[in-house]
Amino acid sequence: MAYIDSNTNKFEDFKGVWVFAEQREGKIMPVVYELLGEARKIADKLNEKVAAVLLGNNVDRLTEDLIKHGADKVYIAEDENLESFTTDGYSKVISNLISEYKPEIVLIGATHIGRDLAPRIAAKSGTGLTADCTNLEIDDEDGKLLMTRPAFGGNIMATIICPNHRPQMSTVRPGVMKKAEKDDTRTGEVIKYEPNIKEEDIRTQIINVIKKAKNDVAIEDADIIVTGGRGLGNKEGFELLEKFAKKIGGVVGASRAAVDNGWIDHSHQVGQTGTTVRPKLYIACGVSGAIQHVTGMKDSDFIVAINKNKDAPIFKVADIGIVGDLYNIVPKIIEKLDKMDE
Ligand code: FAD
Repeated sequence: MAYIDSNTNKFEDFKGVWVFAEQREGKIMPVVYELLGEARKIADKLNEKVAAVLLGNNVDRLTEDLIKHGADKVYIAEDENLESFTTDGYSKVISNLISEYKPEIVLIGATHIGRDLAPRIAAKSGTGLTADCTNLEIDDEDGKLLMTRPAFGGNIMATIICPNHRPQMSTVRPGVMKKAEKDDTRTGEVIKYEPNIKEEDIRTQIINVIKKAKNDVAIEDADIIVTGGRGLGNKEGFELLEKFAKKIGGVVGASRAAVDNGWIDHSHQVGQTGTTVRPKLYIACGVSGAIQHVTGMKDSDFIVAINKNKDAPIFKVADIGIVGDLYNIVPKIIEKLDKMDE
């Protein structure tokens, strides 16, 4: 186990901001670009370097892209035993890298893989982890990482620090941070790391990967989202919203109440326990605007809310509020758009 002994390692030994460059089938996950953007800001403030950590097999062509998105260095570990993610394989290699190169901060996307991986690395490295952060900042006075996340059912935002151990580790929810801009002029260093990973180090065996059929466009990447809540009243209500979304080039989102009622799959859920989104246009239909929902959509560029209750909290975050029955309003909007197309 790569345990970092705080007696022999001083805080000053830990330098740099690392981002786990999660890739699947040779494709970098969108959250990585968000983390690189955030890591760049943090590192500039600390006057340190950003490094991406890339694991896989035959993935070296991805290093350039990571550098162009803000990494100063890329640590790359390639092996056929790292081709697919395994908790044992990835946590062993990354914690060994941490023990050798000693980063001050490690950021990991709160994807399914990141949520599995991060606590194992933190435990192996003898440090703490703040999971599911929505904001990261550097304390002006002591340079510590301030990690903020919703707590107590989303009713308060808690800011957490890791005062006694290094690295400071955090998982960050996809869709919360802005993606780093690509800069084709950037250059950086690629450090090849020998992972020394054997088949017997990995206790699980991947027999087959069965992919779940996904929406055409993932809600986190959509520019326009039409979301339905409990106010739809039934599953069929989503057919109307699907038609509306299609008409305006968007995708369908949902509140947790709609998902819990079994009207639509959880992959559409927006909010604290769903996906955080920031589309150009967000249209909430029959959604009350509970804090756990608003947390996941409040940063949308333009918000339209349709609700028959004029006091619904969703109107507080809406740029345009329409008070009325969605079953009257939405078909009228579609009709109008149809006429404009004629
Ligand atoms: P409701 O609150 O029931 O609101 C329905 C709205 O529809 C009402 O405002 C009503 O006036 C309106 N309405 C009814 N009929 C019509 C009509 N015909 N036309 C127009 N308007 C109509 N929720 C999420 O959405 N996402 C999350 O990720 C999430 N995570 C959670 C995590 C925790 C730990 C907890 C405790 C809760 C979480 N919730 C989440 C649940 C959240 O608290 C709310 O219960 C949920 O968002 C309510 O969904 P809703 O707005 O669709 O339903």
